[in-house]
Amino acid sequence: MEKIGSIMSNKKKVDIVIVGAGLAGLTAALELKKLNYSFVVLEARNRPGGRIHSTVTSDNVTIDLGAQWIGPHHKRMMRLIAEYGLQLIPTYRTGNTIYEMKGKRKKTKGKLPTLSPIAIADIMKMKRKIDKISRKVPFDTPWTSKLAQQLDKITLAEFIKTNSHTKAGMSFSKLLIEEALCANLYEVSALDFLWCIRAAGSIDHLLAAEDYWIAEGAETLINRIAESLGETIHLNQPVLRVMYDEKTVTVYTEKESWQAKKVIVTTPPNLLTRICFDPPLPASRVQLSERAGLPSVIKMICVYDQPFWREGGLSGTAYSDQNPVKLTIDSSPLDGRRGVLTVLIGGDSARQIESLPLESKQVEIKKALVRLLGEKAAFPIEMFEKDWSAEEWTRGGYGTHFATGVISQFGASLNSPIGPIHWAGTETASEWRMYMEGAIQSAERVTVEVINAIIKE
Ligand SMILES: Cc1cc2nc3c(=O)[nH]c(=O)nc-3n(C[C@H](O)[C@H](O)[C@H](O)COP(=O)(O)OP(=O)(O)OC[C@H]3O[C@@H](n4cnc5c(N)ncnc54)[C@H](O)[C@@H]3O)c2cc1C
Repeated sequence: MEKIGSIMSNKKKVDIVIVGAGLAGLTAALELKKLNYSFVVLEARNRPGGRIHSTVTSDNVTIDLGAQWIGPHHKRMMRLIAEYGLQLIPTYRTGNTIYEMKGKRKKTKGKLPTLSPIAIADIMKMKRKIDKISRKVPFDTPWTSKLAQQLDKITLAEFIKTNSHTKAGMSFSKLLIEEALCANLYEVSALDFLWCIRAAGSIDHLLAAEDYWIAEGAETLINRIAESLGETIHLNQPVLRVMYDEKTVTVYTEKESWQAKKVIVTTPPNLLTRICFDPPLPASRVQLSERAGLPSVIKMICVYDQPFWREGGLSGTAYSDQNPVKLTIDSSPLDGRRGVLTVLIGGDSARQIESLPLESKQVEIKKALVRLLGEKAAFPIEMFEKDWSAEEWTRGGYGTHFATGVISQFGASLNSPIGPIHWAGTETASEWRMYMEGAIQSAERVTVEVINAIIKE
């Protein structure tokens, strides 16, 4: 009691408290710094970056264990990368891509596997249909769409089934979409997916989202931003309690308390339930958070002596609908001194292997890689693993995808301010939600919102 009493009496004051030092929190901080507002960023982890996290191999090759790729339409990310002097590497695409569907492994040079003309026509028709319907979903308020109720009643699995006319077309759509969302089709509402497409601009934009990656690792961008923000970032400070009225807010961690005019909360929506709000948040906001779990995802990095797949005429990109490996992509350094293969395991595949001992997990992964890329895949010199579902301050990845009935019923509360509380984070973005680009866009939106509210008072 004494300790709580002293935290409460030692309240420090700033204009704005930011909860979370992921890309959204840090971008909001950069914007506030430019405008000369005082702020503090309170971060639960012992590092900034949230879902962005890099490490190095034993011989100093940087690898990304969290977010990695960006696309040509990620203009905010491109700008930040240039501003902080980082280098972009185009994703290696020379050679054949592997598609493993229903147990059959196919090699192809183009963007589509070798399928019958009828199946290809079916896929192209589905693509046009998705783009067309997505344009009817407003990118900032999808719940207001005339189609919202109808699309939010059905899972993406039902949507794809209804709109496919060939088995091969349906299997291919499932393969690509499950990888992009990192979730099984049956887990996600059709409205959620169409909102993602709208927020990305089109399916083609989404398919280009893995065209580049940052040579120095995505966390280097985070660290450079964090350095420029200096002591305003307080690590190891999980926010436990937020007390507020119409005019002020006080934010408590175990060790600190901060009084401010506004608070910007950037945690993924599922983690809101870990913060005690006083008075309690409106029921719709709480119920939204309770329905906002992230899909399961494990990212593994296999490091080889050489990118051996290139010699065999393969690009290193392999999609599979078999468990556990869903996607592999070549992430080797430009100088080619090592072969680095990124391996993504999402949805039910992640759940199937997450509880295996590390060694058994690695055996399963290597077996799948041999099937996809050849015998040499059995001999990585190092393997790295990050199970994002087990991360206390994330609980999955890449981002929240809502099940049926959530967006149409509770979506409006996703980013509506409540008194002095404002919301950001990629889940609240109207452009590129679930991507790093979305985290930045959400931060730009919330900063304008907060400043305007302060000016009006
Ligand atoms: C495996 C994986 C791969 C991905 N790949 C890509 C990719 O290739 N390209 C891409 O663009 N995106 C990718 N993403 C998505 C991308 O990482 C996110 O969209 C983006 O980083 C989200 O940033 P954010 O700031 O909104 O949220 P977060 O990064 O989740 O930041 C929220 C922060 O809040 C902190 N926090 C939580 N609760 C509290 C609390 N109570 N008190 C204080 N702090 C708290 C967290 O620790 C975290 O630092 C990937 C994600 C994962 C997991």
